[in-house]
Amino acid sequence: MPLTEQHDLRGGTTTWVEDAWDVPPPDPLPDTSTDIAIIGAGIMGSVLAERLSAEGHSVLMLDRRPPGMGSTAASTAELMWAMDVPMSALAAQIGEQGAAQRWVRVYRAVRDFADRIDMLALDCDRIDRATVYLEGKELDADGLREEAALHAAHGLPSLFLDSAAIQQRFGITPRAAIVSTGGFEVDPVKLAHGLLNIARKRGARLGYPVDVTSITEQGDGVALALDHGRQVVAKNVILAGGYERAPLFLPPEFSLLSTFVMAKAPGAAPLWRENAMIWEASNPYLYIRTDADGRIISGGEDEDFSDARHRDALIGEKAGTIAAKTGALLGREPLAVDRAWAATFGSSPDGLPAIGKATNMDRVWLSAGFGGNGIAFAALASELFASAFSGHDDPDAICFDPYRFATPASVAIGQN
Ligand SMILES: Cc1cc2nc3c(=O)[nH]c(=O)nc-3n(C[C@H](O)[C@H](O)[C@H](O)COP(=O)(O)OP(=O)(O)OC[C@H]3O[C@@H](n4cnc5c(N)ncnc54)[C@H](O)[C@@H]3O)c2cc1C
Repeated sequence: MPLTEQHDLRGGTTTWVEDAWDVPPPDPLPDTSTDIAIIGAGIMGSVLAERLSAEGHSVLMLDRRPPGMGSTAASTAELMWAMDVPMSALAAQIGEQGAAQRWVRVYRAVRDFADRIDMLALDCDRIDRATVYLEGKELDADGLREEAALHAAHGLPSLFLDSAAIQQRFGITPRAAIVSTGGFEVDPVKLAHGLLNIARKRGARLGYPVDVTSITEQGDGVALALDHGRQVVAKNVILAGGYERAPLFLPPEFSLLSTFVMAKAPGAAPLWRENAMIWEASNPYLYIRTDADGRIISGGEDEDFSDARHRDALIGEKAGTIAAKTGALLGREPLAVDRAWAATFGSSPDGLPAIGKATNMDRVWLSAGFGGNGIAFAALASELFASAFSGHDDPDAICFDPYRFATPASVAIGQN
């Protein structure tokens, strides 16, 4: 069995533009052992590499693609702390304290990440935005009122507004909503490249195109077998391959689906006030943001399959549906579609990531940011790994343990 799956991760044309990229060049592979090898140089691997190199670890990043060219190049990159499974729904599953612990930690990770991006002066079009979470099929106005009260009770910056207040403040079709602060938007590819370039300046190495075909325990480290018969050795390995899952390690609860996005031509924004990031309390949900060029980017219409040919054949039809629904949400005609794309996407039953130690091999770690907050989860993972590799216990680490859904069947798969 290969170490990770291989997928055609995206189809169509995204908005992130190549002439704005500062693509880090590949480095020679090291011939001595590295402290931490990261498999995957998307946004997850990049955030980890920057943080762990800052902590003084030697880092090697390996990717079969150029950096940032997997799912990261398809992302709509809204850094939000509010997650796919509402806090009230998570509280119903695991209790209020457990839900609050997870939500507050993700909120803190998002805010700390904003500060870190600013501190590093990364050129990635980062802009703070209000988030508008509209009533939908999962939560009606009363449900949103309770959800907002739960956020506020745990110090999270959310406010419930009725439909008239939402229409007045944002200039969109009247619907009750929770308005939150603390989120921001970025260009995900520029962010990944900026982080990798900083890590490389600190001595981290980036190997690509390099396919890691298997890993084996070797003495007090791990040997990574690469394509063309090459091999490198590391004390620890982090699996950050995104939706190209590592089936021997990641439990089956972390599943794949397909998602769709459209964008209107540059210069379209503003079509609503504050250029807020808008999404719905539905599953799947429609979401909208703007970008630095004044595009309107809108996505959703997820499908429960991950076959890339089937997915990409639907791009035109799905873009039209998203354009019409977005127009209705804004109280306008359907938006004119300039770009449209589709991508593989990952989800988990509680909307939370898989971050932590593998159960079946020493010195192997998982960092899989499944769910609509994948980039926020990369920021969270960087904090958890910084603690783990400096020998400190993080009391929140258990919340994101990859094996938290473990049933006898899934443990058996993890232990193959
Ligand atoms: C359409 C869409 C919209 C999204 N919107 C948001 C959003 O608004 N906010 C948010 O926070 N998140 C969002 N997400 C989620 C977020 O974008 C993803 O979680 C994130 O981009 C995944 O990054 P990654 O680095 O884990 O994966 P990738 O970017 O795919 O990087 C993983 C890399 O691992 C490499 N790899 C895998 N296996 C191997 C191997 N064996 N050897 C070598 N290399 C290997 C791959 O080549 C790949 O480049 C969205 C995702 C999509 C698709």
